[in-house]
Amino acid sequence: MSAVAAVKAGDTCKKAGITATASGKKFTCIKSGKKLVWNKGVAAAKPKPVETAVPEATPTPTPTPTPTPTEPTESDLRQRDIQKAFDEIANIAKKASPANTNLEIIASGEIRPESIKVIQDRYNFVAGFFADLVSPDLPVTVVIGANAEINWIASKMEELSGNSFAKFLNAFESPSKGFPCGPYYTAGVSGKTKSGRLLNHYALYGKSCLTQLPSDENFQTTIEHEWVHNVQGKIADPSMIGEGGQTLLPCWFKEGQASFYGNAIGYRSNYDGYLKVRRWNLNNLENRLQVINQNLAGTLKDLDEKFSPFSCGNSGGYSIGALAVEKMVLMKGHTGVVDFMKSVKSEQSWRKAFVKVYGVEADVWIDKIAIEMRLDYRDIGL
Ligand SMILES: [Zn+2]
Repeated sequence: MSAVAAVKAGDTCKKAGITATASGKKFTCIKSGKKLVWNKGVAAAKPKPVETAVPEATPTPTPTPTPTPTEPTESDLRQRDIQKAFDEIANIAKKASPANTNLEIIASGEIRPESIKVIQDRYNFVAGFFADLVSPDLPVTVVIGANAEINWIASKMEELSGNSFAKFLNAFESPSKGFPCGPYYTAGVSGKTKSGRLLNHYALYGKSCLTQLPSDENFQTTIEHEWVHNVQGKIADPSMIGEGGQTLLPCWFKEGQASFYGNAIGYRSNYDGYLKVRRWNLNNLENRLQVINQNLAGTLKDLDEKFSPFSCGNSGGYSIGALAVEKMVLMKGHTGVVDFMKSVKSEQSWRKAFVKVYGVEADVWIDKIAIEMRLDYRDIGL
């Protein structure tokens, strides 16, 4: 296209039908009386953004650290570690391809087809990430309803599994009904159906709400988070997916790994977004109160395998649990985490598995990382 910066509506032009673009408008040369003039123009078509396979993440280039002549400070080194742990998982995710999942989706009439599509696509991706650990076609039934329908969700899961969801309703009924259009929402992994499929559920926002899928930073990691729980059930702790036995994984690892991996996978192409959701997790009010009011090592030690799964996340699993897993990733990468998970199952003890893989007693390690975690909180101003 030739440069015709001077084109203005009403100016004379040379030949009817020729066009010119200027100031974002496309002008056409038209005959007006005896004269040939540029018409008033229409907005020039802009290239449409290409839909990516990951609607949850807006890819932005990872900022390159600016080299400084001075020695890095302790805080700089901690920032590097945050990125190093993120890169370990995000780089695997960037190479992963979506898989074919075996999902049976049971959605209420409140749930729109486009919401189901987003959820399905994200399941396919995260199942692809874990494809060499757990077969992506793991049969999973996903019950999806609106917050206001939490009783329908519970009764559907009771009907499918034959288990009671009284404890579930006890924990989630009142907040779900109190916030039909958010910001509260729930998602979870809840044992198995009678036909042996894993059971996942989501309580989202109703049709009449502004958005059906939560727009907070965290929802961009929720589907990924839940698949991590499915993987935990398959390779580390069968009790999580209704395959019996005692609870093996400590609460801090269960929710911590699901949060850390969910965040890194969900924001794999958006490090700034990742830092925001990491902060969001650490700043969650209930989590933060735990951190401020109690000693960190003691809180983390309390989040063991006996801790209630219904309150684990908000009691610190999502925050300091995720920080602990970040530090495991820094020690021995994704491979170490996977070795740990497999050893939990073979040793039937997460403490034995921890010593085996990381060469240190878990409590000794927790005392050490608790000091670092205090600084991690300070670095983000919490
Ligand atoms: Zn979780």
